[in-house]
Amino acid sequence: MYVKIMGCWDTDIEPMMCIYCNKPFSRKDGKARHENICNENNGIRQMEIDLGIEYPEVQKFECRYCNKVLSTASHRKRHYNICKKQEEYRHLLLFFC
Ligand SMILES: [Zn+2]
Ligand SMILES: [Zn+2]
Repeated sequence: MYVKIMGCWDTDIEPMMCIYCNKPFSRKDGKARHENICNENNGIRQMEIDLGIEYPEVQKFECRYCNKVLSTASHRKRHYNICKKQEEYRHLLLFFC
């Protein structure tokens, strides 16, 4: 079924995408809630944004630092805590900042 979206394009054209991972949202509050818990809400992504680096295309559940593919989102989240490449990348960005 087709649902017409009554947008107010002229007043508020802020893109409804997570500023960290580009995930799209239809509502501002949903976006804000997600951004608080976003996997990419870490110092690294913030530095990338400051440096104008675009969010890289990654497969579902793929570690974007070492390209290891995990089986679930929570496995990937846990992996991000221990990924050595992530630490290397953080140091690289610190060097440029
Ligand atoms: Zn996000
Ligand atoms: Zn990794």
